[in-house]
Amino acid sequence: MYFPFRYEDFSTIANISEVEDGQQVTIKGRIMLIQAKRSPRRRTFMTEAVIADDTGQLKIIWFGQPYIAKTMKVGEEYYFSGKITLDMFGLQLKSPSYEKVKKDGTTTHTARIVPMYPLTSGITHKQMRFLLDQVIHLTKEFEDWIPEDIQKKVNIIPLADAVRYIHFPDTNEQLKQAEIRLKFDELFLLQLRAEMVRQALRRSKAEKITFQEKETKEFVSSLSFELTKDQKVSAWEIIQDMGREDPMNRLLEGDVGSGKTVVSALVALNAILNHKQVVVMAPTEILARQHFASFSALLQKQNILIALLVQSGVEMFGNEIQEKTKAGRKREVLESIKKGNSPFVIGTHALLSEGVEFHDLGLVIVDEQHRFGVDQRKRLKEKSGNTETTPHFLSMTATPIPRSFALALYGDLDISIIKTMPKGRKPIDTKLIEPHKRESAYDFIRSQVKSGRQVFVICPLIEENKENEKKSVMSEYKMLAEKIFPDLCVGYLHGKMKPKEKDDSMNAFAQGEIDILVSTSVVEVGVNVPNASVMMIEGAERFGLAQLHQFRGRVGRSVYQSYCFLLTESESEKAQKRLEKFASTVDGFALAEYDLETRGPGEVYGTTQSGLMNLRLASLKDTEIIKKAREIARDIDFSHYHSLKEKVKEWESGIHLE
Ligand code: ADP
Ligand code: MG
Repeated sequence: MYFPFRYEDFSTIANISEVEDGQQVTIKGRIMLIQAKRSPRRRTFMTEAVIADDTGQLKIIWFGQPYIAKTMKVGEEYYFSGKITLDMFGLQLKSPSYEKVKKDGTTTHTARIVPMYPLTSGITHKQMRFLLDQVIHLTKEFEDWIPEDIQKKVNIIPLADAVRYIHFPDTNEQLKQAEIRLKFDELFLLQLRAEMVRQALRRSKAEKITFQEKETKEFVSSLSFELTKDQKVSAWEIIQDMGREDPMNRLLEGDVGSGKTVVSALVALNAILNHKQVVVMAPTEILARQHFASFSALLQKQNILIALLVQSGVEMFGNEIQEKTKAGRKREVLESIKKGNSPFVIGTHALLSEGVEFHDLGLVIVDEQHRFGVDQRKRLKEKSGNTETTPHFLSMTATPIPRSFALALYGDLDISIIKTMPKGRKPIDTKLIEPHKRESAYDFIRSQVKSGRQVFVICPLIEENKENEKKSVMSEYKMLAEKIFPDLCVGYLHGKMKPKEKDDSMNAFAQGEIDILVSTSVVEVGVNVPNASVMMIEGAERFGLAQLHQFRGRVGRSVYQSYCFLLTESESEKAQKRLEKFASTVDGFALAEYDLETRGPGEVYGTTQSGLMNLRLASLKDTEIIKKAREIARDIDFSHYHSLKEKVKEWESGIHLE
C-alpha cells in the first residue's frame, strides 16, 4: 500500500535511427563497447558505452557509477530508458535506467510505465521497484472489502487488480482504473463513517425542544443590533432541528466576527426555557472564559445562571449570584449541575474527562472542533442524566469550509452558514510589507499605540515543537521590548507557558496593560480584544491562508480602523502571489477555496482537525467519485453489509493510532 507518487512513461520502444533530441525513450540494444573512466576535469568516474540495435548505434554516458562497467558485458542485450540529448558529440542517452532483457519479456524499471516512489535516504528507486516486484503477486491473496455487487454498481475494478496496476500498470487505462478504485475506497470510507453516525443518531431519540416565540422575540429586541438574514436563517434551522425527536447534528459555519455567538445564545435560551441544560465547550481556557463573558452579557436580562468550569477554578454569573465563586467551591458547582440547578455550563473540551454529571442535558455546543468523535458523544450521553436520549449537538466553526468539502468530509452533519457580515464593518487594511519598509511599519505601530490601540505580533510557524516556539517568541519579544519599543509595554504568549500564565498574559492584554503582545498561533481562534487594531505576522508565507485569515480576524472587532501587516523573507514568486491574493481578499471562503487548490487540505486546515491526512490519492477535485461514494453509502443497510461496518471500525482505530 505504499503507492508511487508519479510515473515515467517509457512504454514505447524506439529504433535508434529514429530518436530525436529531447525524447523520452526506451531502446532495446546490445552492448558493443563499455568502459569506466575518470572524467576529464572533475575527479569523478564516468561510464561510457555504445549500444546497437538493428537500425543503428548510440552512445550512452553514466556519471559516478563505476560499477556499471562491471555489471554489463559486451554482447548482452538490455533495455535503456532515459532522455535523448544532443550535444557537440551528437545524440546520446545520459544516465538511463537499464535492465537486462529477460526471456519472458517482462520488465520492472524500463520499457514500461515506470513507477516512481517517495523515497527515504538509503533506498533507491531501483531497490524500491525491485522489492515491490518481489511481492506484487501476493495481491492475489487480497480479500476485497467492497462486495462484488457494489463494485458492479460503481463500476470499479477489484482491489487486487487496482493495487497491482497502481504499482505496475501496463497501460495508462489500467493506471486510471486503479486510481479510480483506490480513491473510491478512501472516499467511500469517509462516507460510510458519516452514514454510521447518521444512522446511529436516527435510531436514537432526543428530547424535543419547542420554540419559545415570546421570549425569543424579547431576546432579539434586547440586542443593540439587528440580526443579519443569515443569522436569522441559521437560528431558525437550528430551532427546527431541536424541535424534532431525533438528535440534531449540525455545523454552524461563519467567518470570524460574523456573529455565531448570538445565534448560539438564542438557541441555548430556547433549550433552557424548555428546562434542559446546555453546555458550551471551547478548545482552550481563554476561549471558555471569553464565552462566559459574552454569554453572560448577552443573557443578562434573561436572568440565567451561567457556570464557568475550568482547570483554574469556577465562576458563576446570574442576577441572583453576582459574587464570583472561588476554586474551593468547585464541588458545590458540580453538585448544582448534577441537581439541575445550573442550567448553563461553559468549559473546555476537558469537561468531559472531569467529574461533571448533568441532570438533564439537552443541548451541546462545541466550538472549533468540527468532528466530535463517536466516543466523545457516547461519554456525553452517559453524563447527560438521561441515557434514554441523546442531547442535540451543535458544532461551531470560524474555519471557512466550502460546502462541497464539508459534504465530502462531514457527510453526517447538516450545515448552516453565516456568509454575510454585520453591516458597518470596516474592512481590515491588509498590506504585504517589503523587508526594507519594516521600520516604517514599526513607526506606524508606535503611532497606533500612542493613540490608545494595541497590537499583536505573530511569530513564524516552526515545526510543531513547543520548545522552538518558545525560543522564537522569546527572541522576538526581547528584540521588540529592548530595541524597538523600549518605551512601550510588550508581553508574550506561547504554548510552553502554564495555563495560568497564559491566562495572565491574555488578561493583561485584554485589560490594556500590555500594548504589544508577541505570540505564537495560540491566539488564532476566537480571542476577542476589541481595542487591538494591528495584526503583524512574521514569516507569513508559512501559514495557510485560512489560518492567516483567522489571525486577521483578531483585529477589526470594533469601531477602529484596523490593519494587518504581512512580513516575509521568502522571495518565492508563488508565496508572493498567495500573500497578495490574501491582502486583496476579505472573504474567508474564497481564500479557503484558493488555498485548497494550491495546497492539500491537511495543510490548509491542519491535519488533526480535517481527518483528511488519511486521504492519499483522493482529493476534493474528485467530485464525481465523491458523489458516487455518497450515493452508495447513503441509507446502506449495514446489517446486510456487515463487512463494511467492520472495515470502518478497523479504519477508525487506525486513525487513532496515528
Ligand atoms: P463570531 O463568534 O462569529 O466570531 P461574534 O458572535 O463574537 O462572532 O460576534 C462578533 C461581534 O459582532 C460581537 O461583538 C457581536 O456583538 C457583534 N454582532 C453580532 N451580530 C451582529 C449584527 N447582526 N449586527 C451588528 N453586530 C453584531
Ligand atoms: Mg466566536
